[in-house]
Amino acid sequence: MEWETVIGLEIHAQLATKSKIFSGASTTYGAEANTQACAVDLGLPGVLPVINQQAIEMAIKFGTAVNAHIADKSVFARKNYFYPDLPKGYQISQFELPIVGHGEIEIQLTDGSKKIIGITRAHLEEDAGKSVHDGFFDNTGVDLNRAGTPLIEIVSEPDMRSSEEAIAYLKKIHSIVRYLKICDGNMQEGSFRCDANVSVRPKGQDELGTRTELKNLNSFKYIEQAIEFEIERQIEVIESGGKVVQETRLYDPNKNETRTMRSKEEANDYRYFPDPDLLPVCIDQETIEAIRKELPELPEAKRDRFIKEFGLSEYDSDVLTSNRDQAEYFESVVNAANGEAKLSANWVMGELSAVLNKSNIDITQSPVSAEMLGGMIKRIKDNTISGNIAKQVFEAMCNGEGSADEIIDNQGLKQVTDPGAIEKLVDDVIDANPDQVKQYQQAPAEKQGKLIGFFVGQIMKKSQGKANPQQVNELLQEKLK
Ligand code: ADP
Ligand code: MG
Repeated sequence: MEWETVIGLEIHAQLATKSKIFSGASTTYGAEANTQACAVDLGLPGVLPVINQQAIEMAIKFGTAVNAHIADKSVFARKNYFYPDLPKGYQISQFELPIVGHGEIEIQLTDGSKKIIGITRAHLEEDAGKSVHDGFFDNTGVDLNRAGTPLIEIVSEPDMRSSEEAIAYLKKIHSIVRYLKICDGNMQEGSFRCDANVSVRPKGQDELGTRTELKNLNSFKYIEQAIEFEIERQIEVIESGGKVVQETRLYDPNKNETRTMRSKEEANDYRYFPDPDLLPVCIDQETIEAIRKELPELPEAKRDRFIKEFGLSEYDSDVLTSNRDQAEYFESVVNAANGEAKLSANWVMGELSAVLNKSNIDITQSPVSAEMLGGMIKRIKDNTISGNIAKQVFEAMCNGEGSADEIIDNQGLKQVTDPGAIEKLVDDVIDANPDQVKQYQQAPAEKQGKLIGFFVGQIMKKSQGKANPQQVNELLQEKLK
């Protein structure tokens, strides 16, 4: 039997507001436990929530970016359940009337094909507190700092058919919320989280299979692994005569498996009702249009522009635009490098990325500014330095030794292009190695390419890497004949 996988994702993105969704308490991550939850976040008697206008604007931004309908009237509802990290006994969310209605985005797969994924809705809600297990023996701590942090929950249609599609969709949403600067996207800190709903069905069947919901997925890698594991598990259950049970399962990255966490609640278990403390949110068309006009260029548009304007490959453009800061950095490099796009792309995606990854820092904290990198690329382009020497210059820039021009000057790294000087180097090396010259001359043409490397190596060493490699090669070939 051939099986088809069906996946729908629920993404929770924390909105990057300074204060909480219904109170003035700070949302800064990492404060001492229970120092950033106020009476409203705790739901103490007699307090009243007040909606944070910025959270509304951010939700509208998201909705317009995914071409969704923005509701002219949306309503906050109470979702009632008990949990130690929710002392109020209910979470303020949206139920029947969410702020963002149906939308869609396009994803691109590794084989180059494209697919549209539907977004069912996106609604505003408050985050809960956090249970803390580390550092307590036989007890669980409760940290309520996170309580009341604004979230947008983005619910997809069950449109994805593989873990690859699910990850592509997730990365696309991740990139969009960061472009819009409505969420910092930090998965380790829990600012961007995802539950994956997974089911399987016989290929060709219309009706959906029973799904399970996977939780505790805080990296792209874990999400992919959890989905893969779950697909296999469900197929095995069905093929051995069993039935998939609708439930919530927890992914354990250490064992790479999913386990039952709880049976699935139905919406009516939550006894949703409109929150009597909050007014409906009414948004007029002008507000929506004003926000739409202010939208930044989004990843897809930027990618297409990079292809057209800079002549970059689809792959390079995709990588460079996956992150807005990186895309903006790249454009500044190109500017500073007099429009030299391909070299700039190589350096941003190559050496610079490697340095950032190694020190685990963001491109906004790069030790080398875009102007400095562009300045160095200009010197590769005008033949002042070779690509190899550039690596040395780049390292020096990373160490704060100044601009490319200063480093080239101070360390005497200017490339030797004077034909006379290069000829002298070539002659010296040929004279010093008569055996290798003979070997070269007797070798068949297809072997000579490799043998010439010996001479090039010697010459580069003698010139401390400064001889222009192209000139050296040309002259060598001529003289060795
Ligand atoms: P809840 O999880 O709150 O009960 P929904 O019924 O809205 O909410 O579904 C949540 C997610 O599950 C959606 O992203 C939806 O696309 C997905 N989903 C629903 N049914 C299936 C299914 N049979 N297989 C896979 N995903 C599904
Ligand atoms: Mg769910």
